Amino acid sequence: MFNLILFGPPGSGKGTQSERLVEKYGVVHLSTGNLLRAEIAQKTPLGLEAKSFIDKGQLVPDEVVIGMVDSYFDLHKDARGFLFDGFPRTVAQAKALDRLLELKKTAISSVLALEVNEEELVKRLLNRGKTSGRSDDTDESVIRKRFSVYTEETSPVAEHYRKARKFHPIAGEGSVDAIFDRLCDTIEKQLKKESGH
Ligand code: AMP
Repeated sequence: MFNLILFGPPGSGKGTQSERLVEKYGVVHLSTGNLLRAEIAQKTPLGLEAKSFIDKGQLVPDEVVIGMVDSYFDLHKDARGFLFDGFPRTVAQAKALDRLLELKKTAISSVLALEVNEEELVKRLLNRGKTSGRSDDTDESVIRKRFSVYTEETSPVAEHYRKARKFHPIAGEGSVDAIFDRLCDTIEKQLKKESGH
């Protein structure tokens, strides 16, 4: 299997780039944000619990998110790989993901980390909020809260993968095409390495 993590703060372009990457590499897209929004839309108990955290810009508890990822794996037993988008967001989630992948006799190949400065991120999110219907993108105080949660809880995840030599920073500014090319270059290098060429 070939498993990638697309890492980066809210608004860094993970969703946009994920769509292209899953198409090119034939891996299954696993966005915990999308899965949570689907639960909310269906008004499931999990969705109702998650909504109270999402609306405040806080993270949904680890055990809820990890359980959801585990169930998603069960639904995609034949996947040739996964692209994780917005997950893992805490070190506990990263460790749980390592264990879940180990059970499937696989591991993370690369973490691609999109880097974008904060003012550009706020601009992108407020812009997205005009059309996405996402309430967490329309209120600047919720956006700022998501950044502080990112700094405190999510950025330590980078260190987890840096230690494992899997962490690759990618400049996340410029055109969507230029960023996609940078992501693909890094992925191609990794694929070559894994196939022993
Ligand atoms: P996203 O679509 O990835 O920006 O996620 C939107 C919101 O869903 C986040 O602000 C969190 O409240 C919640 N969320 C998504 N993924 C996770 C995760 N891996 N762990 C905890 N909360 C998450």
